[in-house]
Amino acid sequence: MNAFALGFHEEEQVIARARVCLDAQDRDCVLRGEFALLLGEYEKLLRQSMRLVRMGDRMHQQLADLNAALRRKQEDLTRLAATDMLTGLCNRRAFMEAAQQALSRARRQGAPLSLLLIDADEFKRVNDTHGHAVGDEVLRRIARTARETLRAEDVVARIGGEEFTALLPDAGPEQAAQAAERLRAAMERSRPAPGETAVACTLSIGVACLEPPPAAVPDVSPDALPDGVEALLRAADEALYAAKASGRNRVFLAPGR
Ligand code: GH3
Ligand code: MG
Ligand code: MG
Repeated sequence: MNAFALGFHEEEQVIARARVCLDAQDRDCVLRGEFALLLGEYEKLLRQSMRLVRMGDRMHQQLADLNAALRRKQEDLTRLAATDMLTGLCNRRAFMEAAQQALSRARRQGAPLSLLLIDADEFKRVNDTHGHAVGDEVLRRIARTARETLRAEDVVARIGGEEFTALLPDAGPEQAAQAAERLRAAMERSRPAPGETAVACTLSIGVACLEPPPAAVPDVSPDALPDGVEALLRAADEALYAAKASGRNRVFLAPGR
């Protein structure tokens, strides 16, 4: 890169003019030597400045590259902190955050919101019979089946060992129960992926819904409603318990709220 490209236009012109002047002088001129010496110093300083500018540019580029890498890593870390490593689904923490946001949105917009609490049936027996690694395969199959069965906007999470949740925005009790039933049936007939061990596993699902307040009661402020994420989870847990108690591989809907 030359001096012009680096922005040393004026200095380059000073040198060009000085050379013309030097060439025009008589070789015996007493001042010629001093002038040549000064010009040499000037050129040396210009070259050093050019090196510094180039070095600065390189450092600036390195800084920009590092900055991009740092940003990518930060995004990876944020994603990782919200992900269940076994299944790739959201983890409990990310789920609770998403649920809080979905709940606020549902209340603001007066839209329904449903929550499925999904538990693998007799999963301890899967582990005891086939080993923990096969149990893990089954957990991944549950995650895959849930992702394939539910809508893209539904948040699916693994919140415990063999316990999963799904948050269904804009879904009322009927729609949520249908989605849960689709998932239950899909898991019942699911096949292991190639290379995985064939192990049957069914799901019990508790469904709880937050329904919008009736339009005829305009005084009800959405924030005044007692239901929170925890309350929804509790209601779904009670329905799940009932599904287990009545024989497993079933969907139970929590009573209206
Ligand atoms: P139920 O139908 O009543 O739900 O019975 P269950 O056997 O599924 O329930 P239980 O709570 O007795 O057992 C859950 C089992 O899940 C026990 C535990 O070893 C297993 N488990 C928990 N986390 C993992 C995991 O990450 N991988 C595997 N393979 N097993 C796990
Ligand atoms: Mg279980
Ligand atoms: Mg369980």
